[in-house]
Amino acid sequence: MPLQEPLAYPDKWEKDMTFRRIATEEAFIVPELAELFHHISRTNWSSLDIAILRINYRDPTGPRVRRLLDLEEERLAEMDREGVAMQVLSLTSPGVQILEPGLATDIARLANDRLAETIARHPTRFAGLAAFAPQDPAAAAKEMERAVRTLGLKGFILNSHTDGRYLDDEFFWPVLEAAEALDAPIYIHPRCPSDGMAAPFRLKEGGIENGNFENAAWGFAVETGTHAVRMILSGLFDRFPKLKIVLGHMGENIPFALWRLDRMGGVPRNRNISLQPSAYFKRNFTITTSGVECHKALAFSLDMLGEDNVMWAIDYPYQESGPAVTFMDSAPIADAVKHKVYAGNAERLFKLSPGA
Ligand code: MN
Repeated sequence: MPLQEPLAYPDKWEKDMTFRRIATEEAFIVPELAELFHHISRTNWSSLDIAILRINYRDPTGPRVRRLLDLEEERLAEMDREGVAMQVLSLTSPGVQILEPGLATDIARLANDRLAETIARHPTRFAGLAAFAPQDPAAAAKEMERAVRTLGLKGFILNSHTDGRYLDDEFFWPVLEAAEALDAPIYIHPRCPSDGMAAPFRLKEGGIENGNFENAAWGFAVETGTHAVRMILSGLFDRFPKLKIVLGHMGENIPFALWRLDRMGGVPRNRNISLQPSAYFKRNFTITTSGVECHKALAFSLDMLGEDNVMWAIDYPYQESGPAVTFMDSAPIADAVKHKVYAGNAERLFKLSPGA
């Protein structure tokens, strides 16, 4: 019997225009940050993130930078063509977290202002997640409050570790207090593994041309999944029971690991926590489908987490919109569930007004 090709879904699919499609992990950049990334791409910085900066920003006029900078031309045209009602925009990885705290805070504010201006021009097409600089938690908390209360942004974007530190570190608690008080989710987006776990990811000097090992093929999920598991097993969600976290890439492999996390990391063995790890994951986390167009992984995640805990995402412009739409339209799941994954869950979590 032939094995089903894991990436298989139809090439052509008649789009079902009854679905409202909200894409929830969609990247943009502001010129000021693109220029900083360009300069950093020309340094010998030892972080694994340097490879991605070199690929994407070495040529400041290249297609990747162009598509990240563009918010209203190519992007809206592709959304119209592919039947995408709305993109939830966020400043691209690794965001401001690689900058020194003062500059990071300034760029986050500037990016949030520009994002809000774009949304004001297209309120039915875009919503946004605010950038913040966790390097300075007090300033971050202030900006998070401004972003939600004044700018109307719907949550926050964080690119995993900050200088090798993770959100369970008490240092970042002002940020978590702000997110919880504002009832707005933090989307923990990947970046490459922190310096402390970088060594096995260095296949080649500079990290380039190795099959995306340190980034999208594997390293992103190791870094970001580790971040989320630290938060769960440390008992952070007993201290912040209402904190809402979003993970992309079908949950960064965590859905598949939940049974064993409960068995080996759960109660009563783990004295930091009062609930099983899987209970926190279902209560405090929502995952998205960004960059994982596998029907079996989708079905498994819906089965493990429930139909309210999965949202659709494209990962524009790193992934193309058309295949992400075809993947979801053709998924062998009930239309009622598809409506939730495409729009209903995002409307609830990000408090978006239901579309016309
Ligand atoms: Mn992404």
